[in-house]
Amino acid sequence: MKERIVVLGGGISGYGSAILAKKAGKDVFLSDMGKISDIYRHRLEEWGVEFEEGGHTEDKILNATTIIKSPGIPDSAPIVVAAKKIGIPIISEMEFTAKYIKGSKTICITGSNGKTTTTSLIYKILSDAGYNVALGGNIGESFAYSAATGNYDWYVLELSSFQLDGMFDFKANIAVLMNITPDHLDRYNYSFQNYIDSKMRIIRNQKSCDCFIYSADDSVITAEVYRRDIASRQLPFMAHAAVASGAGDAFLSDNTFIARVGKKSVEIDTTKMQIKGLHNAYDAMAAALAALAAGVSPEQIATSIYDFSPVEHRLEPVAEVDGVLYINDSKATNVDSVWYALQSMTRPVVWIAGGTDKGNDYSPLFDFAKDKVHTLICMGLDNNKLERDFAGIIPNIISTCSLDEAMRSAVAAAKSGDAVLLSPACASFDLFKNYCQRGELFKSWVNDNLKK
Ligand code: ADP
Repeated sequence: MKERIVVLGGGISGYGSAILAKKAGKDVFLSDMGKISDIYRHRLEEWGVEFEEGGHTEDKILNATTIIKSPGIPDSAPIVVAAKKIGIPIISEMEFTAKYIKGSKTICITGSNGKTTTTSLIYKILSDAGYNVALGGNIGESFAYSAATGNYDWYVLELSSFQLDGMFDFKANIAVLMNITPDHLDRYNYSFQNYIDSKMRIIRNQKSCDCFIYSADDSVITAEVYRRDIASRQLPFMAHAAVASGAGDAFLSDNTFIARVGKKSVEIDTTKMQIKGLHNAYDAMAAALAALAAGVSPEQIATSIYDFSPVEHRLEPVAEVDGVLYINDSKATNVDSVWYALQSMTRPVVWIAGGTDKGNDYSPLFDFAKDKVHTLICMGLDNNKLERDFAGIIPNIISTCSLDEAMRSAVAAAKSGDAVLLSPACASFDLFKNYCQRGELFKSWVNDNLKK
């Protein structure tokens, strides 16, 4: 009997999986509860994939031999529960795709923060070095679509914990784990350990010839490394802890780091990088280790790291007007990423924060807020918590409920030599469609109203 693959979700991950399944000659059906965007619908039609939108037809789904579930669909969705109940295997796009890339290698990056930056940097280093490489996972085209339409030697994949949850036989040749801080706990029964276990799936099935790159400064990760039996070559990176490893490691000291794998090493002066701050040094260390492990020359790695500019919406300098530097860090949707943003600030800060609070505990930010921030502009529909928590810590706190109002207040409060930093610590859904739109509007406001 022909294998029947049902794909749940028609977003970037889902349509790619459906196309790969079609190309592999399977009987394929894609089903989406919501509306499928025009581009993806056209591509599905082009490839002759049968699909539905606006609801799930059980009869066409529960006869699947395998279901590929998109990462945005929770396990608690009724159709997923029904499929599980009758024992249909439910896998992720990564698990499915891995079967079709025999002979190629994967570098997989996960963590609570820094995934996109590190993934983009590794991809840049490998492509600058002339590798036949595709970028995928959460960014760029999906892994499945790249595998269906190209023939790559290397895949650099950004993986969320949701994608990792649906991986069983998949193996990363080079696994990179940036950090683990509480996030998305609503999807993990409010258990931090469940979320940790999900992130640690990045090293599942690894053997002694594979590499595991991780932050040795992250106590959650080191505790896991300590208690698990890990087969792969460990390549820790760090700025605080000293955990040298025979296989290789990276250590940052006095703004310079040396990354070494085997006999090859590269030295990077982080003050010469275009991406700033400790968090970006971590991202660069992880990327350097991954690239060395993939066989890229140290000279090429250094050239590409120095040439790499910040990814959009991640501490992205927008413009300097009248001595005030405007920085877009709209992607900072949790407290940890704002901690790193404030940590990296070398100018007095007018800080724009707020939005949909995810149950934030702001106390880790108090020290930097006290030292570096003279004005907090709250930008959201409900600013009470921010105002209350930072009262007495930041001298000047202004409540606003639109971007325009927030920007006018920021311009009025900023003096020459300051930075105006949009680093919200919150999701954007109260005033914006998503963090990208929030960042775009911030940038256009600066460019339209301030640039002469
Ligand atoms: P992700 O894809 O994991 O969300 P990004 O690279 O998009 O990560 O960065 C998200 C936010 O986290 C940005 O504000 C960025 O400045 C910050 N960030 C980047 N790298 C790190 C890191 N290693 N640790 C903590 N925060 C980071």
